[in-house]
Amino acid sequence: MKDRILVIGSSGQIGTELVLELRRLYGNNNVVACDIKQSISEISESGPFEILDVLDKDKLYEVVKKYNVSQIYLLAAVLSANAESNIDFAWKLNIESHLNILNLAKENLIKKIFWPSTIAVFGPSTQKTNCPQNAIMDPETVYGISKLAGERWNQYYHNKFNVDVRSVRYPGLISWKSKPGGGTTDYAVNIFYDAIKNSKYTCFLNEDCKLPMMYMTDAISSAIKIMETSYKNVKIRSSYNVAAISFSPNDIAIEIKKHIPKFEITYLPDFRQTIASSWPISINDSAAKEDWQWQSKFDLKDITEEMIKNISNKLNFAIK
Ligand code: NAD
Repeated sequence: MKDRILVIGSSGQIGTELVLELRRLYGNNNVVACDIKQSISEISESGPFEILDVLDKDKLYEVVKKYNVSQIYLLAAVLSANAESNIDFAWKLNIESHLNILNLAKENLIKKIFWPSTIAVFGPSTQKTNCPQNAIMDPETVYGISKLAGERWNQYYHNKFNVDVRSVRYPGLISWKSKPGGGTTDYAVNIFYDAIKNSKYTCFLNEDCKLPMMYMTDAISSAIKIMETSYKNVKIRSSYNVAAISFSPNDIAIEIKKHIPKFEITYLPDFRQTIASSWPISINDSAAKEDWQWQSKFDLKDITEEMIKNISNKLNFAIK
């Protein structure tokens, strides 16, 4: 029988695109989308969709049984910037949702889990450039602390209960289909909307703040690739470093100006600069490349072209 997949957090930045790609690959009825809020109609009308709070264990078990779910992609979380203003709830959602899903696998109700970690698990003592897989990890945000705890839970459930959990540490993600959900790298999406609409953008990070980033197409392909690889290839069960490119707000502004010459950027750094300063500049993903042949495809030039083309179409703006 074909695997039935449940995506929890299908209305978010990753979930929106992940559901559509999984449905393209495995068939609409084999991919169940769910969230606490409505997903776009392209999702809710093309296959099964449920309103589900992942913290509601009874309803979660009910949905898993109803659809005979065998794989879960857990995307519900409070992200880095939002978590700082709601630390108790961020800890609760990020940890309890994860344990609820790990326990489903421990009880043999599902077979496989994808749970994304993040570069926010790193901190000020981490090697900044070419950050290794096994770096020093001393996160200073509640989000980073919760994700590092999550990585340790992954390893624990795998060692103790043989749970088949798979994970990657995403860098900042850039997408046009849905907006980002309150992270420190959101500027790299917002900048395109403002550039297209107003030819200017005020950035909440410093101009030279280089961070690891990735286009959503690459992010989705890394999730599906690690889920599809054979069990024995997944040698790291906490979470794999994955990388694509690193750039600063100034780098992206230069690239945007090639398409929108009158574009202007100004800088007004806020609390998110402190968060960004504690993260690495670039990531070494050789373990993911070796173990399950991960490779990113999109560089800054490709991403800029894609973002400007697709957001202009979406907003009905012609770039002159
Ligand atoms: P997002 O905030 O855009 O989406 C999260 C979705 O989860 C939202 O639609 C929200 O309504 C839903 N949700 C919240 N609480 C829920 C609950 N109790 N039950 C069910 N659904 C609930 O986040 P995203 O950017 O899509 O991120 C998804 C995952 O990827 C998160 O774990 C995040 O930490 C990780 N990640 C994201 C990035 C990034 O740049 N976007 C980078 C690194 C890691």
